[in-house]
Amino acid sequence: MEYFNFSFKVLVLGDGGVGKTSLSRRFATGKFSEDYISTIGVNLFSKTITVNGKKVKLLLWDPGGQEKFKNLLPKYYEGGSCGLVVYDVTKPLTLKKCSWWINEVIRHCGKIPLILVGNKIDLGRQVSTEEGRAVANSLNLHFIETSAKNQTNVEKAFSLLGEMVLKT
Ligand code: GDP
Ligand code: MG
Repeated sequence: MEYFNFSFKVLVLGDGGVGKTSLSRRFATGKFSEDYISTIGVNLFSKTITVNGKKVKLLLWDPGGQEKFKNLLPKYYEGGSCGLVVYDVTKPLTLKKCSWWINEVIRHCGKIPLILVGNKIDLGRQVSTEEGRAVANSLNLHFIETSAKNQTNVEKAFSLLGEMVLKT
């Protein structure tokens, strides 16, 4: 039987194609795929990490394609403890959309711990670290840049989220 002290529902948000599924899969299974798979419904990934000596189970809710239509169901947000709001550093528009996603989270869940994540830093970027950080600061969010492909900062993003949610 799996043992843990705490279990949290993690919302993985952001526009279609930014790498939500890749980050979730990389974190939970260690794998990465170049194939673009846009599934129906929701992909669930789970992983238990240790935060300050506590076993924390993170259950990742990764939308299966509906984010393209921006109409995630209220059920998706229900019980959300914390979240990652992801953009693609090669697509400036996806960063602009993050404030919309953050408003959606606040509307459904109130103020929960969120991290703004700039993904795909292994590619030629169109959004600088400073620009991403400035947006995070203006929205009062933590900030991190990742590559699901190269595994850069993926563990770090989720362990930071685990620390943040344990404090609440
Ligand atoms: P989602 O729609 O937000 O779930 O995005 P996906 O995880 O399906 O990723 C969309 C595409 O971007 C796929 O082809 C992935 O292989 C690719 N991708 C995701 N993360 C990265 C990354 O960090 N680096 C690179 N080079 N490609 C990535
Ligand atoms: Mg996906």
